[in-house]
Amino acid sequence: MHGTAQSGRGYGNEPDGLNDTITSAIAPAGIPQPGHRYRLPARQGRAVRLAAGQVLRLINTAGTQVCDLWAFNADDDTEHLSMEHLRTALGRITVREGDRLVTNRRRPILTVVRDTSPGVHDTLIAACDLHRYRQLGVAGYHDNCTDNLRMAMIAIGTPVRTVPAPLNVWMNTPVRADGGIAWLPTVARPGDVFELRADMACTVAMSACPQDIVPINGEGLTPADLNFEVV
Ligand SMILES: [Zn+2]
Repeated sequence: MHGTAQSGRGYGNEPDGLNDTITSAIAPAGIPQPGHRYRLPARQGRAVRLAAGQVLRLINTAGTQVCDLWAFNADDDTEHLSMEHLRTALGRITVREGDRLVTNRRRPILTVVRDTSPGVHDTLIAACDLHRYRQLGVAGYHDNCTDNLRMAMIAIGTPVRTVPAPLNVWMNTPVRADGGIAWLPTVARPGDVFELRADMACTVAMSACPQDIVPINGEGLTPADLNFEVV
């Protein structure tokens, strides 16, 4: 049975709807098999537990797909990767190879150890959610990154109480000189790799963003699968 209501109850943070994410954990507790290539299906989310020192390799298989990504301290989910703290620590609004990405307690949680893509990522934009798709004119349910995070974490037995701002890997939403934000297709290429090393034991959740109205996932407006490995 679906565990949504039971697992999430009490946090006020239940998913607004469901997809296969909630029954598709990589393993019951989210512990990865090193070197195994996992599929992150288009429009879905997955969560993975990393020991300190392990490296998560995200692969943009199609080259057109954005990945929303979160990280939580394995021992205390009130500490998590934080975009506003990260921007302060880095002194800029995007991330590069070598950057140490910090939590809301200003401690490194992940380090970008490799990025073969052109390096265009976003730290500004909230995860898509049902409300966003309603505003874009969608009637009824639409898969969304916020629910994918909630479901992916329920699927491994640790529901989240909050939805922090995500690191939007490969999302091309630059800030223009006049302060405006452009919504552009990703400039990633097929097979591009983005690798993060865990600086503390943590849980990382990823969502293959289901956005198919605004062209961030390519001009074709067709969300695609991603792949990932832990090495
Ligand atoms: Zn999204």
